[in-house]
Amino acid sequence: MTTVDLTPAAAAAVDPAGLSVWPASTLPLPTGDLAVGGVPLAEAAERFGTPLYLLDETEVRTRCRTYAHAFPDADVRYAAKAFLCRTMARWVTEEGLGLDVCSAGELELAVAAGVPPERIVLHGNAKSPQDLETALRLGVGRIVIDSPAEIARLAAAAGAGRVRPKVMVRVVPGIAAGAHEKIRTGTGDQKFGLSVADGSAQHAVARVLAQPDLELAGLHCHLGSQITSAKPYLAAVRRMVGLMARIRDAHGTVPPELDLGGGHGIAYRPGEPALDVPALARKVRTELIESCAAAGLTVPRLVIEPGRAIAGPAGVALYRVLAVKRTEAHTFVAVDGGMSDNPRPALYGVRYAPRLVGRRSDAAPAPVTVVGRHCEAGDVLAAGVPLPGDVRPGDLLAVPAAGAYHLSMASAYNLVGRPPVAAVADGAARLLVRRETLDDLSSRDVGR
Ligand SMILES: *Cc1c(COP(=O)(O)O)cnc(C)c1O
Repeated sequence: MTTVDLTPAAAAAVDPAGLSVWPASTLPLPTGDLAVGGVPLAEAAERFGTPLYLLDETEVRTRCRTYAHAFPDADVRYAAKAFLCRTMARWVTEEGLGLDVCSAGELELAVAAGVPPERIVLHGNAKSPQDLETALRLGVGRIVIDSPAEIARLAAAAGAGRVRPKVMVRVVPGIAAGAHEKIRTGTGDQKFGLSVADGSAQHAVARVLAQPDLELAGLHCHLGSQITSAKPYLAAVRRMVGLMARIRDAHGTVPPELDLGGGHGIAYRPGEPALDVPALARKVRTELIESCAAAGLTVPRLVIEPGRAIAGPAGVALYRVLAVKRTEAHTFVAVDGGMSDNPRPALYGVRYAPRLVGRRSDAAPAPVTVVGRHCEAGDVLAAGVPLPGDVRPGDLLAVPAAGAYHLSMASAYNLVGRPPVAAVADGAARLLVRRETLDDLSSRDVGR
């Protein structure tokens, strides 16, 4: 992993206003507040309450376009698990992207929101009968096989329904990449995919080819998440093309598509690296053409599945400070959300760069630990971050790069209720997902 100098001085040198990890529309206001999508954050907090998530529509669309331009002859499928609601599905579809889903639930929502089923790919290391039934009924574009048993199950279900689904085989190419052990999926000995090293990928390919009810559309791999260098992707291209050549030699046929998954890294704090998408596209294309030429293969159609890199930087979380506690060694600033709306710090130890918004402060910055309101000591949003020394209850804190893997992983922990999501664009805010109420929560509790 790249080592980054994240001292305040180093960060300030590259990004004096500290806004590099904010949506491009972000503007400092004379009041000391920030506006995102033309909407002052304090105004949004007042209108929708806190905790609140804002999604900058222009940022989402711009990021979709960056991918579409960088990969003009590839299929770009937004990984819905990063964040999904009907409007998000509509935005990415309008920008020409498809969707990567991993459950019947995500799939039903996507199709109901108008995503053309043929642009959807279904993943999952343990697809339920309902997942497969829904995929066949709605006619998804690709189903990614992730275990041997799935092949016969899917073939049987497809044969009964007289459709011939296009499938991909999820391959473990044996490449370690990603910012944390829990998000590395490109190597053996984890639950995803079928290994090239032990031959289970080759075996699965042979079994799919032997199934008249299935069509082998391609090979898939997903190396992990929060990858900031193109190198692992280039290594993956070489391994996957090598596997395609072996498939041709063994079976006389070559799967026409190569899906390289997602995992494109973003900066959460000023000074952190992000994956350069246009550079990735150029390098992958060159590597693919060269590897295929060397192996005597036709270049397969490329598919990529970015999630975080589309939704993450477009989201901002807004919290109200509820308590400030000074111990001998630390100042704890506790906010009205936490691990129930953002489990990432507790899961992977990631840290954010919250900042005071909504008012001006001339107090000298001092390091604090921003914590959530939940009954877990690990409910820490950010440690050692500088906030104005006069930070106090009632203040607003905003957290950038909050659009991916927050709300999609949110829980009902402590029955706090999941926050609403509002879209901001051109000076207007509108609610996309309303706040989860106590009535929502208690309506499921049907025992007596
Ligand atoms: C999670 C996932 C993605 C997206 O990962 P990001 O890190 O959000 O880009 C893409 N493909 C598959 C199969 C995934 O599991």
